[in-house]
Amino acid sequence: MMLELESLTHRYGTESAVDDVSFGVAEGELVALLGPSGCGKTTVVQAVAGHVRPTAGRVTLRGADVTDAPPESRQVSVVFQQSTLYPHMTVSENVAYGLRARGVESGPRADVVSEYLELVDLSEQRDAYPAELSGGQRQRVELARAVAPEPDVLLLDEPLSALDRSLRERLRGEIARIQQETGVTTLFVTHDQAEAMALADRLVVMDDGSVAGVGEPRTLYESPSTPFVASFLGRSNELSATVVRQEPLTFTVGGQEVVLPDSRADGSIGSAVSCHVRPDDLTLDAGGGLGSDGPSVSLPGTVARVADMGCRYDVTVRLETEEEVIVERTETPPATGESVSVGLLAENLTIFGAGQRDRIGVDVARL
Ligand code: ATP
Repeated sequence: MMLELESLTHRYGTESAVDDVSFGVAEGELVALLGPSGCGKTTVVQAVAGHVRPTAGRVTLRGADVTDAPPESRQVSVVFQQSTLYPHMTVSENVAYGLRARGVESGPRADVVSEYLELVDLSEQRDAYPAELSGGQRQRVELARAVAPEPDVLLLDEPLSALDRSLRERLRGEIARIQQETGVTTLFVTHDQAEAMALADRLVVMDDGSVAGVGEPRTLYESPSTPFVASFLGRSNELSATVVRQEPLTFTVGGQEVVLPDSRADGSIGSAVSCHVRPDDLTLDAGGGLGSDGPSVSLPGTVARVADMGCRYDVTVRLETEEEVIVERTETPPATGESVSVGLLAENLTIFGAGQRDRIGVDVARL
């Protein structure tokens, strides 16, 4: 691993910000550190950059323990949300500054500056001052300045959050291209799950100072490790369920029995569990019949609301248990107040022990 965090823990006074966080980033990999505001992402970045000395745990770079090493001795570059370019320096002087700090001689420095300005497509702006650039261009200069010294690790701390949506998406593509062309090992910090999933080789999802899940984006989305990951990575309906039989494992969900055979789960009879299912994994039938090829479970309910999202409808159905689920549908939806059947396949259910952080029986969750 190029970067490794081992049981990283940090407290500000008595407040715990990061608790026992461990993960690694392999050479050339782009890992997204994803989580809501306040979950500890920036504290992790600061510990890797050397701006925070962790209360406990280790940070290693290329296998060497740098936990207590000063920031300037680490080959780590950081790009923040807000520009940190020097306003009195031109674009090329800003990029050169980072190289001078790393001891690159002035001759080669000019060539490297030109190379990296070309990489971020800003060769024509080399003599401009930061105030003369757009927000997107300033972030591209930041990227060039950060990548030019060829750091061991590039830390990107919410680098796109200050930009508007279309620019954010364009620059996201630029980051992916620059990362691929340079092969720089990257830790990309964001609270935006779409951004993280679009960019990352792997995700590390944080919740309240701890790691809630690690994995490839699609794997984690389809097989979330905790209820938090299920709801944070895309949308998820949560239904309460109760274990009614163990052989084969059977739950009541939305007033109906759902059998999950061949499982190794050990939920005892009568125990409450929570059941997650994505809105696009649910079907809607206004007539009630679902056919033999249809979903394995059909939950009767009434349409409570329909939201027209432009590219689809979000149909909220109130089930007989009074629980509500959202069903995504592209065809014309049934009207509010209409009786419908919500169809689902048992294989699309993810089951968690109620009140627990961990999933019960991984094999149960995705058959
Ligand atoms: P955001 O996306 O809002 O920046 P984050 O996920 O990066 O959030 P951190 O900034 O690492 O989270 O903060 C984690 C916790 O530590 C929060 O509860 C925050 O209030 C607290 N915290 C962060 N910095 C300090 C500090 N310098 N002094 C005291 N508490 C702090």
